[in-house]
Amino acid sequence: MTPCSRLCLLALAAALAAAGGCASAAGGARGGSTVEYVAVAPEAAPAVVVARPVAEVARPEPAPAEPKREPRRPVVERPAEEPASAEVRGASHLARVAPALRARGLALYRRLEAEGIHVRFIFGYTPYTKRSRKGPGGWATWHQFGLAFDLNLVDRKGMGDAKKHFAEDAEIWARIGAVAQELGLVWGGSWRSSYDPFHFEWHPGDDAVINKQDLARFLRAAGKRGKDVEAVWRLYGDDTPPEM
Ligand SMILES: [Zn+2]
Repeated sequence: MTPCSRLCLLALAAALAAAGGCASAAGGARGGSTVEYVAVAPEAAPAVVVARPVAEVARPEPAPAEPKREPRRPVVERPAEEPASAEVRGASHLARVAPALRARGLALYRRLEAEGIHVRFIFGYTPYTKRSRKGPGGWATWHQFGLAFDLNLVDRKGMGDAKKHFAEDAEIWARIGAVAQELGLVWGGSWRSSYDPFHFEWHPGDDAVINKQDLARFLRAAGKRGKDVEAVWRLYGDDTPPEM
């Protein structure tokens, strides 16, 4: 502190004391050698009040949005082989058919959905038994070797109901059959002798009738009781394009 400022401070302190202001002594009084006064402004500076716009103060913070909760779904046991697409109506019927047939079935379903034709798979594999070895005019059905599936229109309550409406639905069935045939499937709706538009098969290179020789060939591959259907599928290879 320069002498001048010290003097000035002393003068200020005296003035403050006279004015009834507040001054505090600090420092050397205790030591007795020097006395210093520290001046405090006589009038406390008014508290600074910053008025904020009402809106800014009053508006409450928007509450954070509640995270959406997924509705709980019942746990459903599904067969391990069911195709990933659980959205497909009746997809479980494709669980035990040849992968090449399943891929075509799913491709057919997707194409029909895109055209506004809604179907449901209603049948797939059924085990071969000697008693049941009667196909349409044959010795077995393709269903018994996992090489056929059936579907119906969702608007029809069952096959009986669909049959009642065959005339009315003829165009829709024809379209389904056309798409199926584009995918390399045999369509039962193309048979004149036994019109069966619900039915689709996959067995490239063979005609639709399983004759005695065909059955013998299948049972040689699948075993006498026809259990190893995958061995029958291998007879036809798998020409499924990857995009299917
Ligand atoms: Zn069928």
